[in-house]
Amino acid sequence: MSVVVRFAPSPTGGLHIGGVRTALYNYLFARKHKGRFILRIEDTDQTRFVEGAEDYIINSLKWCGIEFNEGVHLGGPCVPYRQSERKELYAGYARQLIESGAGYYAFDTPTELDEMRARLEASGIKSPQYNSITRSTMKNSLTLPQEEVQRRVDAGDPYVIRLKVPRKEEVRFHDEVRGWVVIHSSQVDDKVLMKSDGMPTYHMANVVDDHTMGITHVIRGEEWLSSTPLHVLLYRAFGWEDTMPKFAHLPLILKPEGTGKLSKRDADKFPQFPLAFTDAEGKTYKGFKELGYLPEALINFLALLGWNPGGDEEIMDLDRMTEAFSLERIGKSGTKYDLAKAEWFNQVYLRKRTDEELIEPVKIELQKEGIEIPTDAFLLRFISLMKERVTFLKDFIAQGRYFFETPQVYDEGFKQNKWVPEAPVWMIEIAKQFETVENWQTSELESCLKHWVSKHELSLGKVLPAFRLAITGLGYGPVTFEVAQTIGKTETLLRLNKATEIK
Ligand code: GLU
Repeated sequence: MSVVVRFAPSPTGGLHIGGVRTALYNYLFARKHKGRFILRIEDTDQTRFVEGAEDYIINSLKWCGIEFNEGVHLGGPCVPYRQSERKELYAGYARQLIESGAGYYAFDTPTELDEMRARLEASGIKSPQYNSITRSTMKNSLTLPQEEVQRRVDAGDPYVIRLKVPRKEEVRFHDEVRGWVVIHSSQVDDKVLMKSDGMPTYHMANVVDDHTMGITHVIRGEEWLSSTPLHVLLYRAFGWEDTMPKFAHLPLILKPEGTGKLSKRDADKFPQFPLAFTDAEGKTYKGFKELGYLPEALINFLALLGWNPGGDEEIMDLDRMTEAFSLERIGKSGTKYDLAKAEWFNQVYLRKRTDEELIEPVKIELQKEGIEIPTDAFLLRFISLMKERVTFLKDFIAQGRYFFETPQVYDEGFKQNKWVPEAPVWMIEIAKQFETVENWQTSELESCLKHWVSKHELSLGKVLPAFRLAITGLGYGPVTFEVAQTIGKTETLLRLNKATEIK
């Protein structure tokens, strides 16, 4: 049996990081088993539809490097892949349930439903449901005469179609992560399958699509675990139980504190979206991309939020993750959203990129800051000096702006500690020595300065920090001679002379 999995987001807003993890696990599973991976859009709830959300989902996953074999943006054998375009299909299957007696029409108005709930609550029932007991007191095709049902349907009276959940049946399924789940059908209510506007509900469309698309494994978030018994009953009602997909429900992602589910409400405190996202109120959230994360770092971080390869291997590219991936190694308990770990991955992956590979991304950062782009040769030197020091792409500029611009301000704390009264004179003297250096190389500059320091019996420990401040304006960074070599003779001499301004 070849594996077919799907990622089935609803276009109701930004694709949350939990969704990206779900997509990633499906992708790894499909790749591992040389199966197919489908992107299906579950847009049956038109009230929650958000314009642009579908494109956002596609672009985000693309940026992450998660690829599909077929889907809404690619086409494929099961077109259409957008549920709102599959209405006829669901209507046909709903009729099938009515005909077999597994589903029924219900004509109850919202007021009648409220009254039913109030009545049951008054008699001490805590969460009243439309179910195998209460349905006999309601207006539906099980209680109304056949002719009246027909008359109402023909007259276009509003109705929904509900699943006739059997009163006494065991529902059991094996979850690949959690093991056997067994519940009794009396705990499941007669869920609406088709709404009065002719649209299917999530449950109906999801099951029909998973069946008709030949999905073999449903890998999704834990929040759907409680719907699965109903889905199993639906497969049973259709007579599809023996080809039902296997289920794997992924553990929760917990808040950074380690308690409670990670919530989109915290998205302005720390990143939770792959790309920048503006919500319906016009509020924009920065994405991992805009914050300078590399997609491979984000993916590695997400892969380990709920899954582990065994052992302590952590740094894994997509190929390695695919090789190591298995549903058995997905944990049951929630995992903390530890962004310090994500930052660490980013640092690791930035260092893994070659200097050449970083030229283009660094150019983009320079452009954002309105800094004129130097030659690639200059950038290569810059990148090699800074790469080991940065966590994010933006740090290249935040910490290395002086490579491109003469410092206008000097670090206050460092100045107070290290800019000794003699420093301005030293800098002018060093400039004079450097004037004579012909081969403008780090080693030459270093020996020139050291020679001058020893000739004048000065302390290198005092001169070097002052030299650093004059050249970079900062108290930390790569070796100052390297910086001087990179920015060139003219600029170095200019900075040394300008240092007399430092007060
Ligand atoms: N449309 C559901 C969602 O937004 C899909 C759940 C499932 O994978 O079954 O997450």
